[in-house]
Amino acid sequence: MSSALMQNYARIDIAFEHGEGAYLYADDGRKFLDFASGIGVNSLGHTHPGVTNALKEQADKLWHVSNLYNIDMQTRLAERLVANSFADKAFFCNSGAEAVEATLKMARIYHSTNGNPERYRVITAANAFHGRTLATISAGGQAKHLDGFGPRVDGFDQITLNDFDAAKKAIGPETAAILIEPLQGEGGIHTATAEFLTSLRALADEAGILLIYDEIQCGMGRTGKLWAHEWSGVTPDIMAIAKALGNGFPIGAVLATEAVAATLVAGKHGTTFGGNPLAMSVANAVLDEMLADGFLEHVERMGALLRERVEALIGNKRVFSEVRGKGLMLGLQCTESNLELMATLREEGLLSVVADGNALRLLPPLIINEAQIDEACAALEHACAVIESSVN
Ligand SMILES: *Cc1c(COP(=O)(O)O)cnc(C)c1O
Repeated sequence: MSSALMQNYARIDIAFEHGEGAYLYADDGRKFLDFASGIGVNSLGHTHPGVTNALKEQADKLWHVSNLYNIDMQTRLAERLVANSFADKAFFCNSGAEAVEATLKMARIYHSTNGNPERYRVITAANAFHGRTLATISAGGQAKHLDGFGPRVDGFDQITLNDFDAAKKAIGPETAAILIEPLQGEGGIHTATAEFLTSLRALADEAGILLIYDEIQCGMGRTGKLWAHEWSGVTPDIMAIAKALGNGFPIGAVLATEAVAATLVAGKHGTTFGGNPLAMSVANAVLDEMLADGFLEHVERMGALLRERVEALIGNKRVFSEVRGKGLMLGLQCTESNLELMATLREEGLLSVVADGNALRLLPPLIINEAQIDEACAALEHACAVIESSVN
């Protein structure tokens, strides 16, 4: 079907009309259990009452003021993020790519301010995804995102994830930072091991370079801790977050230590919309839920249950061979086509999302319950049977 829209998305032919909790309702009457959550965005489910009310109330008060003025809700959100992380300071923007872009600029200004302007290169991991700006596609280093957009933004050196020797060798006099997703999303749900992160931290400290995490997908409670890196206990100097922070309202943020943040002085970076009152009211309401007693424990419990149930489906089936990930960020390594599994699950009323390397991601809202896990696993079992019978 031809459309006035640019063709840069391979869209699935469904239009959702409304959503509630873990369910989406299409305009043709179909109901779907949403185990994609946008792509790891709607972590509190659709039309969450607390978040929706916060947005409605703010909409009646004030939408936008420039960052030339104080924005109290912005200060409050920063204080709360800082109080619940390694960081001392926060900066707000509007998307994930913008947040990563800011981390890259911060790595450069940090070294430049400290008398090492030659340090600008950043080490990244293979299969990484950091966004779609010119710098972040270069950071991600994937041919499918780079082809046709040359020349590449200079300054990125790529290593295999979890290959510490390679990281060590990649560091040179021009290295500014190492940028890592503690748990890769788009790349196919690959975990940076605790040993790797521990060694990277020591290496970075020794070399006087910065450790940057991209927790845009794996952060905000997705793995059962507020930050995915908490599982390793290894903190970064700078971290980018976005996706679930606004539960669907566009927002991104950068968290950083004082030493780094101190170098980003007035005039060095900015954005028109970042930290605006609408986004701030929503993100504060998201934090109200995620910081509440028992929220993260619920994610951990549901994640363990989902994983156990999905792993139990591997045995006699040939449709997927392995389950990876943590909490409610799971990846199934498909043995048949991941696209076929996603499409078959959709026929069963379950939404999922593919990832690189023939993987399928399950990213349900963090508020899912056991009955919804039962429902998803029944759909998965049936979809596997359908695919099995078609390949036999
Ligand atoms: C989605 C994502 C991004 C990019 O975020 P946008 O909001 O699409 O710019 C960057 N890094 C990771 C790990 C992501 O999952």
